[in-house]
Amino acid sequence: MLAGRENDSGGVQSGRSWPLLRCPDCDLLHAVPPLPRGGTARCRRCRALLLRRRGHGLENACLLTLAAAPLFVIANLFPFLVLDLPGGEQSSRLLSASWSLLAHDMPVVGLLVFFLVFLAPATVLLVDLLVLGPLSRGRRPPVAARLFRLVEHVRPWAMLDVYLLGIIVAYVKLRDIASIEFGPGFFAFLGTLLLLVAADAILEPGQVWERFGRQTRAALGALRTLGDLVSCHGCRQLLRLRTAADGRALLCPRCGGAVHRRAPASLSRSWAYLVAAVALYLPANILPVMTVTYLGKTRSDTILSGVHELALAGMWPLALLVFFASFVVPIVKMVGLAYLLLSIRFGWRTGPRARTRLHRLIAYLGRWSMIDVFVVGLLAALVTAGNLVLIVPELGAAAFALVVVLTMLASDSFDVRLIWDAARGTDERPAPA
Ligand SMILES: [Zn+2]
Ligand SMILES: [Zn+2]
Repeated sequence: MLAGRENDSGGVQSGRSWPLLRCPDCDLLHAVPPLPRGGTARCRRCRALLLRRRGHGLENACLLTLAAAPLFVIANLFPFLVLDLPGGEQSSRLLSASWSLLAHDMPVVGLLVFFLVFLAPATVLLVDLLVLGPLSRGRRPPVAARLFRLVEHVRPWAMLDVYLLGIIVAYVKLRDIASIEFGPGFFAFLGTLLLLVAADAILEPGQVWERFGRQTRAALGALRTLGDLVSCHGCRQLLRLRTAADGRALLCPRCGGAVHRRAPASLSRSWAYLVAAVALYLPANILPVMTVTYLGKTRSDTILSGVHELALAGMWPLALLVFFASFVVPIVKMVGLAYLLLSIRFGWRTGPRARTRLHRLIAYLGRWSMIDVFVVGLLAALVTAGNLVLIVPELGAAAFALVVVLTMLASDSFDVRLIWDAARGTDERPAPA
C-alpha cells in the first residue's frame, strides 16, 4: 500500500498523524499510513522502496544473526575445499584465496579479498548483534545508533554471496584436473550465508531507527505548514536544516551523521572514481589475470580468454555467467554512470524515472563483477605447489578488482536525487553548510 503526498498537495484526510519520509531516490515527501503486517510502501513517483513492515523483524533478524555467528567461526577454522592432486592432497580454508594473493605479491587484491570475505561480513555480524540484541530487549546503548549507521555503509561490501558463485566457478574449472571435495568449513559457510540472507530479508532499517527515536510525524492536515524538511542520509529522519554555530553541518540527533540537503561533492567524487575506473579498464582486459601451468605447458588467461576456455569446454552457463559479470556488467556500469553524470551536467529534464531505474540497476549489479577476482584467488590457493599443475595470479586481476571497486564507489557517491532536481529545473545542490 502506498500513500504519498507532496507537501503542497491536498486530498489527505486530516486528524491523524502519520510518519513522514522522503523518498531516498527522488526526495518526494510522503506521509506513510499504518502498513499491514508484511506490507510495503513505495514511492508514488519513482517506485523506490520507502518502508516495509515485518512482524518481529528485528527480534527474528537478531536470532538468525546469532545462529550465523558460530557457523561463521567454524567456516573460518575448518577445511573448505580439499583437492586431491597426484602430488598429494591440498586443503584450503575460507581465507586461503586472500593469503595466496598476498603470497604472490598482490597485497592490494589480497587485502581486498580479506575485507570482502571476512572483515566486512564479520563487522556486519558483530554490529548487528551488538545493536539488535539490546534493542530487542528494549535497551538502547549510547553508541548503538552510530554503529548501526556506519554498518549500513559496510553491508554492500560483505560479499559472501558473490564468493559462493566464485567457489562454484573455481570448482567447475578444477573438476577436470583433480577430484575436489567440500569440507566442513564450506557447509558452515553455506549455513552462514543462508542465515544472513534470511536476516537481511526480514530486517527493516526503518523499524530499527524507529526504536532509536520516533520518525518525524505530522497531522495530515498540517503537511502544508511543515516547511522545508531535509532527510538525514543515515537514518532518514526529517530535520530542519540549519548550520551549527561554528559553521559545521548539523548532526542528526538520532544517528549522529552530518545532515546535508544533498551528498556533498557527489558529482565530482563520482566523476573521479569513474575516470580512474575507465583508465584501469584497458589493462584489466589486456593483461592476463592468471597463468596456468598444466602438464608442462604454460598458458596465460585474460578475462575474455578464460570465458572462451569455459565455452570450449562446453560449460556454457558458466561461460555466460562469467562473461556477463566480468565483461558486460563493468561496461554497462561505466557507460551508465557517464550517461547519468552527463545528464546532470547538461540539466536534462526528460526521463528521470528511467535514469533512476538505471542507477538502481548499476548499484545492484556492481558487486557481482567480483566473481572473477575470487575465482583467481581460489584457484591460486588450491593449486599452489603441485608438480603437474600450477596456477599463479597475474596483474590483470589486480587491475580488474580495482575497476570493480572504483565503479562501486562511483555509483555509491552519485546522489540520485540530483536527477530529479535537474528534472524540476531547481538547483538543490548542496549549499556550503
Ligand atoms: Zn521516489
Ligand atoms: Zn540520522
